[in-house]
Amino acid sequence: MTVPEGSQIRGKSVMVIGGSRGIGAAIVASFAAAGAAVRFTYAGSRDAAEALAEATGAIAIQADAADRDALLASIREAGALDVFVYNAGLLGVGDPLTLDPDAADRLIDVNVRGAYHGSVEAARRMVDGGRIIAIGSVHGDRMPFAGITAYGMSKSALQGLTRGLARDFGARHITVNLVQPGPTDTDMNPADGPLAQQMHDEMAIRRHGTADEVASLVLYLASPPARGITGAMHTIDGGFGA
Ligand code: NDP
Repeated sequence: MTVPEGSQIRGKSVMVIGGSRGIGAAIVASFAAAGAAVRFTYAGSRDAAEALAEATGAIAIQADAADRDALLASIREAGALDVFVYNAGLLGVGDPLTLDPDAADRLIDVNVRGAYHGSVEAARRMVDGGRIIAIGSVHGDRMPFAGITAYGMSKSALQGLTRGLARDFGARHITVNLVQPGPTDTDMNPADGPLAQQMHDEMAIRRHGTADEVASLVLYLASPPARGITGAMHTIDGGFGA
């Protein structure tokens, strides 16, 4: 992991929602390696969270992002934030005619409601010039397969959140950005999974991305040279959406 030249991540107070595994864990590790003071939440993966905390020096907090009170309490405990990253996300795949409505609601709660409430609470206690970064998906722009309607809808919603909050908080020089990965090798979407070839067929660079590649982009958006970038979508998808 290379810290962007000229960055002043060291000493920054960073909060990552959903940081125990995958892309979130890479974001936690990258900020910690750059010298930030990092806190992260998780829902169910206690062992992974504790191992990551041990390895990086970050603080792990059990808080379900779908539980608004727990989410907001975890953010309030962090004090004045420089960087807030909303990474928590659930993937729901299936025919909407048969998809469990409760599963769809849970997906929307985690992917959208948590992102809204968490970002607003973070901004309340954020320093001027702070950074809000959410993790969306290329499926916010493009859905070349059936069966991902609720997921794609949730990630499109984050685009509206990003544009809106950039306007709401711009006077404080807080930037708000959305990172939109394509297929990325994690538990959610393993590079050797059954749909991998179908995904690679849609890509210009025919491989899964890595969580570290996504984390590098997040770190850049949190760094001083990115101070003028806001209200924007940053797709990192190997050309999946090209
Ligand atoms: P993983 O399933 O590998 O990891 C998800 C992370 O989110 C875990 O740390 C998990 O914690 C946390 N999380 C999930 N639900 C909650 C919750 N209710 N409260 C708190 N934390 C929660 O997913 P990825 O790393 O692949 O995905 C990370 C983000 O990137 C998601 O928003 C996803 O939609 C997005 N994305 C991923 C892509 C991919 O191909 N992998 C492509 C495009 C976007 P725990 O295990 O403790 O519950």
